Amino acid sequence: MRKPLIAGNWKLHKTLAEAQELARTLKDKLQDEQRCELVIAPPFTALAAVAEICRDSPLQLAGQNCYPATEGAFTGELSPTLLQDAGCHYVILGHSERRQLLGETDTFINAKVQAALAAGLKVILCVGENLAQREDGELFDVIATQMRLGLAEITSAQMAEVVIAYEPVWAIGTGRTASADQAAEVHAFIRGLLQGQFSSEVSESTRILYGGSVKPDNISSLMAEPDIDGALVGGASLDSASFVAIAHYP
Ligand code: PEP
Repeated sequence: MRKPLIAGNWKLHKTLAEAQELARTLKDKLQDEQRCELVIAPPFTALAAVAEICRDSPLQLAGQNCYPATEGAFTGELSPTLLQDAGCHYVILGHSERRQLLGETDTFINAKVQAALAAGLKVILCVGENLAQREDGELFDVIATQMRLGLAEITSAQMAEVVIAYEPVWAIGTGRTASADQAAEVHAFIRGLLQGQFSSEVSESTRILYGGSVKPDNISSLMAEPDIDGALVGGASLDSASFVAIAHYP
């Protein structure tokens, strides 16, 4: 019922030429993919060129961030509309690197979620606890707060355009993956939150991705969990063979 989604977050990697080369390889290798929805998030500078390459392929584009305004005096920022203009269908919001390094709050992230949905972009909203929060027993409080504030004012109808990504911060870029059991526990918790915040229908239809050192050798055990609907992949999405292997998980 929920189509799996495999998304690659290229972060601050790839020159224009490198991004084009990776996109061409992915298009070639994933042209016939139908089981999963496929999304890649190149750096902003490569979006338009990669969109051109990915035309008529299963690969959709995501921005890695956006600003919650249509236009104006916001130096260095990009609106949801400009992302769409560059060929994006999705935007990744609330990534832990932006929360940690750039001080993004749940309220600011919520403004972005609202702006993106209003403009017609789909949203991948990232939530996740850091190691200290997990060790202090705050895991479920942290996730509940990020979900409640990040999705404030969002309607059940709009949730059809929202994907949640559970990304434990201690597993991002560390090579330390949450075990399938650890991930499944939090995914089930998030599904319960969606039911309380919206409805059973929203809870059952919303895709919840896992992110945090996903690799070809751990994707299958994660995808075997009924509440895990795909992956948000960082490092392993920079290499075409790894990303293709993840997308083609057995
Ligand atoms: C990410 O950046 O969203 C991520 C999960 O990174 P990595 O796969 O490298 O841990």
